[in-house]
Amino acid sequence: MAAAEDWVVRTAGQVRAEGERRYPGETPTCASGISPSGRVHLGNLRELMVPHLVADEVRREGAPCRHILSWDDYDRFRRVPVGMPEEFAEHIGRPLTAVPDPCGAHENWAEHFKEPLREALDRLGVQVTEISQTEMYTGGAYTAQIVTAMRRRVDIDAVLGRYRTKRAADQEDDDEPQAAAAVYYPFRPYCAACGRDDTTVTAFDDETTEITYTCACGVHEGPTPIARVAGKLVWKVDWPMRWAYEHVTFEPAGVDHSTPGSSFTVGAELVSEIFDGEAPLHFAYSFVGTTGSAKMSSSRGGAPTPADALEIFEAPLVRWLYARRRPEQSITLAFDAEVGRVYDEWDALSRKVAVGTADQAAQTIFERASGPAEGPLPVTPRPLPFRTLASVADITAGDQAQILRIIRELTAEDPVEDLDEVRPRLDCAQAWITEYAAPEDRTEVRDHPDTERLAALTDEERGALKLLIDGMTADWSLDGLTTLLYGVPKLLRGLKISEPPTPELKAAQRDWFILLYQLLIGKNTGPRLPTLLLALGQDRVRFLLGG
Ligand SMILES: [Zn+2]
Ligand SMILES: [Zn+2]
Repeated sequence: MAAAEDWVVRTAGQVRAEGERRYPGETPTCASGISPSGRVHLGNLRELMVPHLVADEVRREGAPCRHILSWDDYDRFRRVPVGMPEEFAEHIGRPLTAVPDPCGAHENWAEHFKEPLREALDRLGVQVTEISQTEMYTGGAYTAQIVTAMRRRVDIDAVLGRYRTKRAADQEDDDEPQAAAAVYYPFRPYCAACGRDDTTVTAFDDETTEITYTCACGVHEGPTPIARVAGKLVWKVDWPMRWAYEHVTFEPAGVDHSTPGSSFTVGAELVSEIFDGEAPLHFAYSFVGTTGSAKMSSSRGGAPTPADALEIFEAPLVRWLYARRRPEQSITLAFDAEVGRVYDEWDALSRKVAVGTADQAAQTIFERASGPAEGPLPVTPRPLPFRTLASVADITAGDQAQILRIIRELTAEDPVEDLDEVRPRLDCAQAWITEYAAPEDRTEVRDHPDTERLAALTDEERGALKLLIDGMTADWSLDGLTTLLYGVPKLLRGLKISEPPTPELKAAQRDWFILLYQLLIGKNTGPRLPTLLLALGQDRVRFLLGG
């Protein structure tokens, strides 16, 4: 793909050029912002992957690039997420870092939700510089900017006012100070007594920088120097302040933040007018949806997370699912039976890249998916088809010794010696079968022969079963069984086993396979029959087929 058509290369070039123009000699900065208010889901991962791909491209080109992850952990706790105890409602209005940890193992609420994302990013090879807004605000990093914003409150109010009428239905504004207040202040204190932000600023002295506020809990505070008052700028002012503070050159956002009158548009005006900065390069990225995750989502409380995806997809596949779409394209991550197809596509691409037949665009995306600039991520040494591994894991109910036996038989020409050779893919397949596979796609091997069906066999069916049982021992391998299974209807008709199939033979093969599925697993379809037979072993096959 020509560089101009490749959004990653194009944006990386812009980041380098703009970074050099704005902040000569400095490492350019790409930014992501995440609120650890609840489970960080797969949609939020795009907020990280888009800047990551760009920063990573700059590094691939041999230049440094900083990717910051700004944790919005000083935001107010807005609501108790579904599935969490209602008693947390007591903390609504406090900073996320002041809310207790729901599990007891973390420092606070925010850390509880940061940790799984941090681990997922590490596995995905996404290197970020974390910035805690709690640390920045409480450490006084932004005091000068807060004082500036307070002194310029009338100007800020005028900019915001130009957009207020245009966005009646905008949902982002619940963190702005009370619209009813006579005077607008862009800073919202966290109450010194109750810790909540149910506060109203009543005065600010531009000279002394002393602030006075009241709180719904009854407290009247101040005048106190604003440097000693906990609190934060409202979101629409906070965002542009940070662009200027961190010298952000590129920051994308979800389409909901990028419409006219939204926080990006407003921020772009405020950053130059108030904070003497420039809006970052910016574009909107589209949504990320999932299919087939309903069962797991309801049991874990909410949409699937990057950690959930990494349970069933190898890390390079997760990178690939994001990297292969342009930002304006939406992404659908499948957790249903489509997972097998996604793996097949990835394996086909891997093979093409290995032999040099992939087209340039696909190869570039493959390289981005395989790992960051620092080097490729670990892969499964023997990438057997995902569907095969899922069938084996299913049929054996996860029994490791049995899995190894079957996989050795499946790879008879160059046998797998140790299950680590098929990991992590085997673990992904195991997790998928257990957590996501639909009941109708699962395989339950019969405990006892289907005596009723066996008693009703036609002569032809009985003959076919005898050919299989007598013939299978001669070449008990994937290839041998495949040939025999397809060959039985031919042999029955007095044809050679190598006879090319006719429509009539194909119909006979279909009926024959259905018979086997019924006798072995009580359904009309199932995993590939040669794999299934190998998994069951000769004795079990003979027992269930009435031999
Ligand atoms: Zn916790
Ligand atoms: Zn209070």
